[in-house]
Amino acid sequence: MNIAAKKVDVAKEAAALLEKMGVAKELYAGGDMPSFSPVTGEKIASLKTVTASEAAGKIERADEAFRSWRLVPAPKRGELVRLLGEELRAFKADLGRLVSIEAGKIPSEGLGEVQEMIDICDFAVGLSRQLYGLTIATERPGHRMMETWHPLGVVGIISAFNFPVAVWSWNAALALVCGDAVVWKPSEKTPLTALACQAILERAIARFGDAPEGLSQVLIGDRAIGEVLVDHPKVPLVSATGSTRMGREVGPRLAKRFARAILELGGNNAGIVCPSADLDMALRAIAFGAMGTAGQRCTTLRRLFVHESVYDQLVPRLKKAYQSVSVGNPLEPAALVGPLVDKAAFDGMQKAISEAQSHGGSVTGGERVELGYDNGFYVKPALVEMPQQEGPVLEETFAPILYVMKYSDFDAVLAEHNAVAAGLSSSIFTRDMQEAERFLAADGSDCGIANVNIGTSGAEIGGAFGGEKETGGGRESGSDAWKAYMRRATNTVNYSKALPLAQGVSFDIE
Ligand code: NAD
Repeated sequence: MNIAAKKVDVAKEAAALLEKMGVAKELYAGGDMPSFSPVTGEKIASLKTVTASEAAGKIERADEAFRSWRLVPAPKRGELVRLLGEELRAFKADLGRLVSIEAGKIPSEGLGEVQEMIDICDFAVGLSRQLYGLTIATERPGHRMMETWHPLGVVGIISAFNFPVAVWSWNAALALVCGDAVVWKPSEKTPLTALACQAILERAIARFGDAPEGLSQVLIGDRAIGEVLVDHPKVPLVSATGSTRMGREVGPRLAKRFARAILELGGNNAGIVCPSADLDMALRAIAFGAMGTAGQRCTTLRRLFVHESVYDQLVPRLKKAYQSVSVGNPLEPAALVGPLVDKAAFDGMQKAISEAQSHGGSVTGGERVELGYDNGFYVKPALVEMPQQEGPVLEETFAPILYVMKYSDFDAVLAEHNAVAAGLSSSIFTRDMQEAERFLAADGSDCGIANVNIGTSGAEIGGAFGGEKETGGGRESGSDAWKAYMRRATNTVNYSKALPLAQGVSFDIE
């Protein structure tokens, strides 16, 4: 089913939302950088960009702010993040709607992204009273050894278009309670939602009262402005989310100046459906994982291995779901699949599909859906049955293409599962405990996220998020990801009257 086009004035609605959230008009009207809505493809704003020297000035101001923010007790810093969570609750509907307009997400996903921001704020508030260090047994008598965690500095955040607000909050909420300042370079495809987040944070800062000026900054601009952040000596950590191509550029630049990197890059996520799987459950999880967000999640399911004994039960049902899924205007509640972000994404999808066909792939779906918006790129998600894993199956194409392959041997399918360059998310559907445990074991899935009887997408904020290999190795969000945002000091205190050296070394001077 295709959701028919309704006349929507996305530019007008975006402006009204921005005004309601308190964004100054001069920031998004009459500027030099256009912003487009994938819903209709039309221009919805013209943003004022920063020059390289203005960006450097903002980083300097954030560094100044850091110098006093680091001295505010952590639970008090948590109070600012608590207020941010309150403001996000108050503006959830508005910000969620703006995410739908600017990133093309269906309403529940736009709202879900803001819910994720609220959740990470709650998490960070609790964390502000739990920035624990260890006390460590020392080998020397009359000594005490411990570790303490101190604020790090300015945290640079570079984000991708497909999670335009959540990724900022994963980083910013942790960084702020850890005593850091934040400077954010959002995607040039989704700058309006960044302005809205900054305005919402500024409300929280105003209620907080005495946060230092410049604690949070936004740099509107293209990748050259991102490079200013990456190269600036006063930014000890950059958390960069985006393509593996971007990570290949950013990673070495950060390494060159010994800055820390949290790299959250592309995924080529797979699922395995075993003979004992609950096929109804698997079907729903696969449908959401592969078609949800129009295939534009880093955790989107892109490769599916189905055991030969259940292939003919599952795959025809999946194909039916692909044929009947509702594609359309994401501002309408009935749509499950919204638009691709732009024409380049559409072209990339078509190219991958024709390459898959040249490798023997058989395609269901994949064609453009005309809704009457000339520059809106809507597609039927594509299911491609492949004789083997090769060609485009080995790469991430950031669009809704699911490659389906048949398997017979568990060890062989595990090897195939791991035989791609990316290592973000993975899942297995089985009721066989040995298969499930094996998938999670040292010689099982090599990804940062490995799930049993859940799809690859839709992670909760409580766990550390990130992946291995060409996904970049970074971790952000929950668990102990906060440690990357702080400076660890190991402290040894001698309260004895002697000076014993470690490892029994003697160095006696007269
Ligand atoms: P992209 O790489 O084109 O851009 C991401 C960001 O990096 C943008 O803000 C861009 O301006 C900036 N950038 C690009 N080159 C840069 C450079 N040389 N220096 C500094 N900044 C630079 O990615 P995209 O198209 O916006 O997003 C889609 C990609 O992001 C997919 O590959 C997806 O898998 C990945 N992604 C990963 C995660 C994750 O957590 N692993 C989450 C979301 C998206």
